[in-house]
Amino acid sequence: TISTEIIAVGTELLLGQIADTNAQWISEKLAAAGINVHHHAVVGDNLQRVEQQFRVSNKRSDIIIVTGGLGPTEDDLTREAFQKLAGIEMVEHGPSMEKIKTHFAEKEVNMTPNNRKQARVFAGADVLENHTGMAPGMIVSYGEKTWVFLPGVPREMKRMMADSVLPYIRRLTGEDKMIKSVMLRFIGIGESRLEHELQDLIRQQTNPTIAPLAQNEGIAIRLTAKASTDEEAVALIKRTKRDILDRVGEYYYGTDEQSLEERVLNLLKDQGKTAAAAESLTGGMFTEKMIAVPGASEVCRGGIVCYDASVKENVLHVPSQLLKQHGAVSEACAQAMAANVCSQMDADIGISFTGVAGPDSSEGHPAGTVFIAIHDKSGEQQVEKHNFYGDRNTIRKQSVLKGYELLYN
Ligand code: ATP
Ligand code: MG
Repeated sequence: TISTEIIAVGTELLLGQIADTNAQWISEKLAAAGINVHHHAVVGDNLQRVEQQFRVSNKRSDIIIVTGGLGPTEDDLTREAFQKLAGIEMVEHGPSMEKIKTHFAEKEVNMTPNNRKQARVFAGADVLENHTGMAPGMIVSYGEKTWVFLPGVPREMKRMMADSVLPYIRRLTGEDKMIKSVMLRFIGIGESRLEHELQDLIRQQTNPTIAPLAQNEGIAIRLTAKASTDEEAVALIKRTKRDILDRVGEYYYGTDEQSLEERVLNLLKDQGKTAAAAESLTGGMFTEKMIAVPGASEVCRGGIVCYDASVKENVLHVPSQLLKQHGAVSEACAQAMAANVCSQMDADIGISFTGVAGPDSSEGHPAGTVFIAIHDKSGEQQVEKHNFYGDRNTIRKQSVLKGYELLYN
């Protein structure tokens, strides 16, 4: 099989100033096209070490994609390093040079000589036009190997990958299969439980593959099928989906990429209902998520962040007597918060969050103790106590997720 490797050049990557998102993005695209990536490498802006990496990669991989180090400055060494390895002559690429000159003329600044460097390409290379920047990319055949050079700037790199490199590699590898992915979303079941229920399927199954993912929106399973046609891929996915739902169907709530808050919002919209939130430990996170969904204005009235007990009392009018008697982290307080925000904001549904985000315990409750209440104007009241586990942010996120789950059910 043909193996592909991605090399990111840049000292800032080694210093931890930025993460190698280029390799991540490229890998994702290659995987979706059914092309094997066997190595990722990162090397700093050092001529000797870049050359050394290039030698290693040239031995072990068939297609090598390099990002970064094509710019005009001293530390952009990718061309020099490859020249040391391959000894291919460099020539000035006319159209790129023209573009660079025009660019400087338009900006009315003098072009420094080092900018010429950006127009230099390997003789015989396929030159990839840079639509959003200066340095062109290149596809170079070197012996049996194919080398692809792309700018480090993600926007420039992505455009060249999509326009030229991916189609090129697909032709080269003769990969004519297509990949189709579907997300199955679940709530009310933990990741380990889900994995346990599906263990044998996950292990045995190769097409589609079954990958459980824990996300902010809860638990999801990604099914990825490889097939010659779309119909074939759909059929493969359908069969596996049925096997999965036979076992854990009761926790399933949808297939596509739609988030839980989108679903909740659409559900409330269909019912013609509005909602408002009183948020203590979640600090507005619930409301933020709702407002992030397009069309939120038809459903979301607003929210009150009532973190301190005095705000619960003075703004939200939770009776001081109640707070004294039960504390802010209590079923009674959650219920009062939900009822009051509902009436104060003239909503159909009020939801509230009060609890201990941690790391310390509070009012005698351990971190992770969270009360969530739902007040439905037309009658139904609901309050739940949860014991979440994790750091402060995890507990807050889990609270929000659970809030949406309760509204969805
Ligand atoms: P330029 O012409 O802008 O100098 P270049 O090809 O020389 O481009 P670099 O100088 O290495 O590329 O990187 C330019 C910018 O692109 C960096 O500042 C960095 O923010 C981003 N970048 C570079 N490499 C990566 C990478 N592997 N992942 C994500 N971002 C990257
Ligand atoms: Mg640079």
